[in-house]
Amino acid sequence: MVTIVSPFEIAQKLYPTQYNTGMACKYSSFMISLPCEEGTLLYHTLTGEMVLLDRTETVNESNQHLFFHKFIVPTKLDEHKLALQIRSIASMMKGKKRQSSFLIPTTTDCNARCFYCFEHGCKRITMTAETAKAVAAYMIRVSGNEELKITWFGGEPLYNQEAIETICSELKKADKPFSSVMVTNGYYLDRETAETAYRDWNLRLVQITLDGTKDVYLRTKAYIDHDPDAFDRVINNIITASKTGIAVNIRLNMDANNAEDLFCLAAELKDRLNGCKNITGWCELLRDYIVKVGNFPSEEVAVETCLRLQKTLDEQWPRSKEGLPRNVVINSCIADNDACETILPDGTISKCDKIDFQSIISSIWSESVDYSEIQAWKETIVFPECKTCSVFPQCIVLKRCKGVKNGCTKALRIRKRLEIEEKMMLEYELYKKG
Ligand code: SF4
Ligand code: SF4
Repeated sequence: MVTIVSPFEIAQKLYPTQYNTGMACKYSSFMISLPCEEGTLLYHTLTGEMVLLDRTETVNESNQHLFFHKFIVPTKLDEHKLALQIRSIASMMKGKKRQSSFLIPTTTDCNARCFYCFEHGCKRITMTAETAKAVAAYMIRVSGNEELKITWFGGEPLYNQEAIETICSELKKADKPFSSVMVTNGYYLDRETAETAYRDWNLRLVQITLDGTKDVYLRTKAYIDHDPDAFDRVINNIITASKTGIAVNIRLNMDANNAEDLFCLAAELKDRLNGCKNITGWCELLRDYIVKVGNFPSEEVAVETCLRLQKTLDEQWPRSKEGLPRNVVINSCIADNDACETILPDGTISKCDKIDFQSIISSIWSESVDYSEIQAWKETIVFPECKTCSVFPQCIVLKRCKGVKNGCTKALRIRKRLEIEEKMMLEYELYKKG
């Protein structure tokens, strides 16, 4: 047996070495096994260790090595409880980090009216120049020596470019290092804007959603000025952004009504974006979140269709993959991460990226912070399925997260597992290369 990825340091300290004294044993619930060229890869999602067993070694409950490395555990061990304890201690040991990552919706207004938008009913507020200046000053003040990572968000962030320009020019004046990414519909990202964004806003990645081929796209986006050329305009803007050096992640939101059409769109994009660099594609299943979306006949069909499209996207635009984590996973998302904040267009501060003027923790003009609100965003929820889920140590779900209000889905479980298997394979490939 060869260790390819060492266990997390903290997990090693908190989960002491096991010795088999003849007690009844079982496979760890957190073991993921994957066949590979030389034998079998085993990954432990709690300890973070990945080992390679060659073809002569068997994965069975009497394998002493596997016991020593916690892939086999005493039957009476409550692994789930242990995972929660390790996460909580690892989180305390990490200590408080300065805020350095900011999600900034420059406006809650938008030039499109997607039927599935989670901001339906949200009041429309646009950041003023005065607030934008104060936002820059706030970020400089609270981040200390940390480099800023900004996500421009909306509404449609480019509907209020002035705020972005003001914030970036203030940061540059103060010599504050920063980089930014943007979630946009891409409509206003023409050549001039893309060049300015790359040069002055240090914009390095945009996420642009396409909901289908031209007619489906126009129907879904329902742009307020009814521009019949909006689809071609956005495709051209994607090409321009990519040529300017800005990476583009094309997000395809899928429900039963547009699934078939998205495959046609993927084929069309393959041709039209031929030669473009730094393009990736991501398929996401729409959920009954704010409005009812077109439901597939079953969860299995939805997952299979989504993964089939993802495979097509990965083949035409290979994603650069990340390896396995090197530390215990202690955060779910920006909402439970002390280093991240959402600065709303009126200067108030919240945690989650779903714009919510009711869940305020502070403001850019105030020193006072509502710690109980911050704490409320850290409360987690454990679904019945989590008890037997192999990815549990690396999957944190927040009680307040509206994205999982209906519980865990088979789609989420399969995706989480596939993500880990993909990372295992990447680590194995790196190991083989030496
Ligand atoms: S994937 Fe679902 S079942 Fe598994 S740990 Fe995450 S929320 Fe729980
Ligand atoms: S919607 Fe859920 S996952 Fe997204 S930031 Fe909010 S709490 Fe986190």
